[in-house]
Amino acid sequence: YAKKCGRNNYQFYNASLSMDALRRMAVENGLRKALGNGELELLYQPKVKMGSFEIIGAEALVRWTSSELGSVSPVEFIPVAEQSGLIIPIGDWILETACRQAKHWYDQGRHDVHVAVNLSAVQFRERDLAGRVMQVLSSVGLPPGCLDLELTESMLVDDAEETVAALNRLKKIGVTLSIDDFGTGYSSLSYLTRFPLDALKVDRAFVTGLPDDGDAVTMAKAIVSMAQNLGFKVVAEGIETERQNAFLHALGSDIGQGFLYSRPLPLSAFMALLKNGRPLFRNSPADTLRPR
Ligand code: C2E
Ligand code: MG
Ligand code: MG
Ligand code: MG
Repeated sequence: YAKKCGRNNYQFYNASLSMDALRRMAVENGLRKALGNGELELLYQPKVKMGSFEIIGAEALVRWTSSELGSVSPVEFIPVAEQSGLIIPIGDWILETACRQAKHWYDQGRHDVHVAVNLSAVQFRERDLAGRVMQVLSSVGLPPGCLDLELTESMLVDDAEETVAALNRLKKIGVTLSIDDFGTGYSSLSYLTRFPLDALKVDRAFVTGLPDDGDAVTMAKAIVSMAQNLGFKVVAEGIETERQNAFLHALGSDIGQGFLYSRPLPLSAFMALLKNGRPLFRNSPADTLRPR
């Protein structure tokens, strides 16, 4: 019986492996055409002051609707783009589009609202990333202070000296630097004092259990107080409830992002939110909770 089970498992394993491989190939092939076919879009998720719910920025989040595969999550296609090298043209498109679109609201007078762009490790390792960022900003005409770059801990682990140099080159341009998914990267904390960082984005994993789960409370307190003592802004992501907002605000977290305030929105809807000037959620849950 055990033998039979084992063999079935083995066959099942094999079959699922090749399904994965086929899917991966389909994603990679689809991605090759995605830029040319205009299948990529950026959505904007507001970042708000936790006390007042005023919008102070937005994170650009890429969406892909493939003509063959339908909508594919960035959680699936970004790693494929990284492994295939396609992340270089796609990442360039994301950076340039986010800056160009942020210039739209900048030109409407919202100089106080930055755009945050996720960088992949492959882009970060590119020798002339800072030059590329500078070139995009100047061709678009967006002030560097309006661009925040989100990096992950895992990008900063190896070759500390080259990493410090790369971060310093970016800082010199005048952009701000945030650590995304903070607390999930298994890296040494010592990098926090060596690198010129502006903000920590506390991962949703530490927010979900608040305020009832004691372990989550302990972790959240430790992370927020450490970040504050080191002089970083704290952005809490994945805020879904008013209690999470209230709890983290009381701890001293400055900025929040999550479905409580707004889902990621198409550019036009995000600009409409900026235009009506109202703080999010309290006055207008209906127009911010549109599923997407
Ligand atoms: P991330 O940068 O940590 O982005 C936050 C993710 O959490 C987004 O998922 C967002 O839609 C989701 N989220 C925001 N608020 C809530 C909430 O209250 N509850 C829950 N459950 N989820 C929330 P998304 O858009 O699917 O992106 C997933 C990841 O894909 C991102 O994580 C980022 O690592 C990557 N990604 C997305 N866009 C880009 C991009 O333009 N470039 C690169 N390199 N990576 C990207
Ligand atoms: Mg991010
Ligand atoms: Mg994040
Ligand atoms: Mg995340």
